[in-house]
Amino acid sequence: MTKLLSTYEGLVSTTVISQLRQLGLRLAGKKVVHVNSTREGGGVAEILEWMVPLMQDVGLDVQWEVIEGNADFFDVTKKFHNGLQGFPVTINSREWQTYRGLNEENAVRLRPILEDADLVVIHDPQPAALLGLCPNRKGKWIWRAHIDVSRPARAVWQGLKPFVSGYDASIFSMCQFAQPLPHPQFLIPPSIDPLSQKNMDLAPEEIAAVRHQYNLDPKKPLLVQISRFDRFKDPLGVIAAYQLVRKVQPVQLVLAGGGATDDPEGQKVLEEVLEAANGDPDIHVLLLPSDAHRTINALQRLADIVIQKSTREGFGLTVTEGLWKGKPVIGGDTGGIRLQLINYHTGFLVNTPEGAAHRIRFLLHHKGLRNKMGVKAREFVRENFLHTRQLREYLTLFHILNSQQEASTIYI
Ligand code: UDP
Repeated sequence: MTKLLSTYEGLVSTTVISQLRQLGLRLAGKKVVHVNSTREGGGVAEILEWMVPLMQDVGLDVQWEVIEGNADFFDVTKKFHNGLQGFPVTINSREWQTYRGLNEENAVRLRPILEDADLVVIHDPQPAALLGLCPNRKGKWIWRAHIDVSRPARAVWQGLKPFVSGYDASIFSMCQFAQPLPHPQFLIPPSIDPLSQKNMDLAPEEIAAVRHQYNLDPKKPLLVQISRFDRFKDPLGVIAAYQLVRKVQPVQLVLAGGGATDDPEGQKVLEEVLEAANGDPDIHVLLLPSDAHRTINALQRLADIVIQKSTREGFGLTVTEGLWKGKPVIGGDTGGIRLQLINYHTGFLVNTPEGAAHRIRFLLHHKGLRNKMGVKAREFVRENFLHTRQLREYLTLFHILNSQQEASTIYI
């Protein structure tokens, strides 16, 4: 998917486009390298897929590198992920060594590229140790935390902090996630691409074909949660909410997700989900390939209500995607979901399966309000959560850091 900035004309104002071009001119030719831990699956890969080509289109020289890990490494970084999101995990010295060791192996390959870059953006904890392994850095390094680190397990954060303290800046999705760090911190909420396969308009026939393919009943209201099979996405809570609603009215549920290559726990959670679904023909557990964007798009459009009942969430792109499809979203009262759901306007925030069931029933009984909320939901995303806004914020940050560098060169 390579998109040019000009394709956003009509969706955003020409002023927005020309501001981005001007920022690009100031940064023309700068070497930027993004590093994360998976090429596909999950929100970070999804972001880099559009951001890299758009940054290139405005004139930057951008590369996307992925660190190579093994099962042991991803087990450890999964523990980081859980610990940073508040689970009480402990990481022993052998596991810290695995973390450092894999970063060292990757540094052998990446060091020349990273040391030569003007700007390096390291995404999440997996590759964070690379900074200390590139002593001859020429550019500015930014650590981008995508996860909810508002209440991290102390031992995990204390262990990781030395790896991230040396960065020139960090980016968090929300102010609640900011941490005491010895460098400037910036807040940049994520965004979605209205032109991607995941979010573009689809022909009614294609949507109907997906309904048919998955044997969904056109007469029963449909709840849809799209998520990796991850405990923090609370798929069991969604099933519990569905079961409460089903006691009083017909309803069907789609839980659709695939595995990210950096998530070894997914299989276990999937088994628990299948057990909880207990063969109910109205619960559709779908394992989708990582490129099933149009299918996800269609499922979100088929939904009467989109659900994202996470108990922890960095931002929740699936919430934005649901809102963009003109659907009210019922989401967990946590992390970035709070930025997106405004009760009675774009959706509802909930804390329990009972709360979710209550809001589901309310929305199913108020079709007019549901439609009005859907219209507001789409406009809310247009104003706040499209890529053009996020691109502007990244370029502005690059410009600030880059000007600091130029200023210090002048003053030396
Ligand atoms: N997604 C997908 N296939 C799946 C599950 C999720 O393509 O099986 C997409 C989803 O549509 C969204 C992203 O992956 O664009 C997930 O981002 P989000 O912020 O919701 O959660 P994360 O996985 O990053 O925790």
